[in-house]
Amino acid sequence: MQTNIEQEQLTYCAVHPDRETGLRCNKCERYMCAQCAVLTPVGYRCRECVRTVDNKFFTGTNQDYLIVAAVAAISSGLGAAAMLFIPIWLFVIFIALPIGGGVAYLIRRAVQGRRGRYTGYVGAAAVVIATVIVMLISRTDLINIGLWVYAGIVAGIVYNRFDGKL
Ligand SMILES: [Zn+2]
Ligand SMILES: [Zn+2]
Repeated sequence: MQTNIEQEQLTYCAVHPDRETGLRCNKCERYMCAQCAVLTPVGYRCRECVRTVDNKFFTGTNQDYLIVAAVAAISSGLGAAAMLFIPIWLFVIFIALPIGGGVAYLIRRAVQGRRGRYTGYVGAAAVVIATVIVMLISRTDLINIGLWVYAGIVAGIVYNRFDGKL
């Protein structure tokens, strides 16, 4: 491709029209000066695009939190109920790991990958609450080690998958 020097025009920052710049946002392609450019892991972007991505990243609405809580509670509650049939609580560790991954997967699917700042907390809390409810319904001793280990592992996995970090 040939570049035509004569046609090249001076370009200016979209926010500061008096500042000449050749730097463009790699998302919306607007020109931006050094002050307006933000270095992100995916390159230089304008402040507006960075803000939009931030908002997109934390798209968890209040309704999402309800979905997260419901999915986490139901799936981990079923898992906790299954734990009641495990004779040796040490086995719980090995079974709780894939269940935790499964619960996290179901949550992600249910909210279509959207995340909120508190998704991890909500999911983990729902897991613990659901496990306690299973203990109460099943009249299992509240100091049932296996179920607490289960709740800890599953809640920990869910929290880790959804903590607000990139
Ligand atoms: Zn932009
Ligand atoms: Zn600028």
